Amino acid sequence: MKTRAAVLHSVGDPLVIEELELQPPKADEVLVRVHAAGVCRSDLQIMTGSTPHVLPAVLGHEGAGVVVECGSESANLRPGDRVIFNWAPACGQCFYCDLHRPALCSVTKDAIWAGVMQDGTPRMYLGKNPVYQYCALGCFSEYVVVAEAACVPLRANLKIPMPIAALIGCCVTTGVGAILNTARVPAGGNVVVYGAGGVGLSAILGARLVGAGLVLAVDPVRDRRTKAAEFGADWTLTGGDGDASIVRERTESRGADFVIEATGIPSVQEACLEAVRPGGTLVLAGLAPVGSNTSFPAARITRGEITIRGSYYGTSVPEDDFLRYARYYLEGKLPLDSMMTRQYRLEEVMQAYEDLEQGRLIRGVLLMNG
Ligand SMILES: [Zn+2]
Ligand SMILES: [Zn+2]
Repeated sequence: MKTRAAVLHSVGDPLVIEELELQPPKADEVLVRVHAAGVCRSDLQIMTGSTPHVLPAVLGHEGAGVVVECGSESANLRPGDRVIFNWAPACGQCFYCDLHRPALCSVTKDAIWAGVMQDGTPRMYLGKNPVYQYCALGCFSEYVVVAEAACVPLRANLKIPMPIAALIGCCVTTGVGAILNTARVPAGGNVVVYGAGGVGLSAILGARLVGAGLVLAVDPVRDRRTKAAEFGADWTLTGGDGDASIVRERTESRGADFVIEATGIPSVQEACLEAVRPGGTLVLAGLAPVGSNTSFPAARITRGEITIRGSYYGTSVPEDDFLRYARYYLEGKLPLDSMMTRQYRLEEVMQAYEDLEQGRLIRGVLLMNG
């Protein structure tokens, strides 16, 4: 069948809407009609080359849709199921899966990073040439074929809007999970969040959800600071040199119990260590450019017994966490509607990325198929 999709042909080029040939799903794969796809910064890192990826590729990894057709060995999904895409589907059997750390699965990641299905072959073609799927999803497309394991079905009682479902597939799970799963922030814990985009705002919502004490947000963009305050930050800071001392002032001279870094910018990662109190924890939740280095003062980490933790996909178990966050949304505990600042058609994808780069977006969502 045919599908229209946003294709990156070369680093630095704009995405081009192409009509691709989409092969049918094989054994444990499914064909999904995509309804919504989030405009995430990770896709931008592919466009700029700061994350290398095989090209041409269809970008998009934060999405939701409806299953149209199932492969012969698909056991868990049926046509008509509403699903959220999981960009880190796991094998369920390796060392890391046994540890209940599916985002670290060592079996599935090679194919995911090669932009192909788990059998090593692509499903999308432009003429005779393969087009790869970012995260083996490539959901900036009207239809995709993906691994069944990359789909988390929303049960009948979880009737959330498709754009919200899409956000749960990446930024919400990454940000809320950094608080709930990685940092395990206790009630009353003080939290500083660096970067108030989709991930950072989700972290602020997560901090409010667990009953954190003081919540501070740091972002140079005024609209994002306004949004951070709306989402529950007690104070917002601009990202200047004096921020760490302001954090100490607000926390009885100690510094924050938990700092969540959601930008992935090495200089910000370095600066935000200053805001962590002795014995506190810095969580690196933003994705730094591949090959970049961040420099930390080891003596301060040792003397201060500071913990630095990476958080990938919010240390989540998507099959559980996606549904939990959908339930929290329905219960009003995760007010995600105001995170979505603009909706676009697939053809407007480059406008969406320009808006993101210009700081005009918190989260944009592409809407496909009505
Ligand atoms: Zn993302
Ligand atoms: Zn595994």
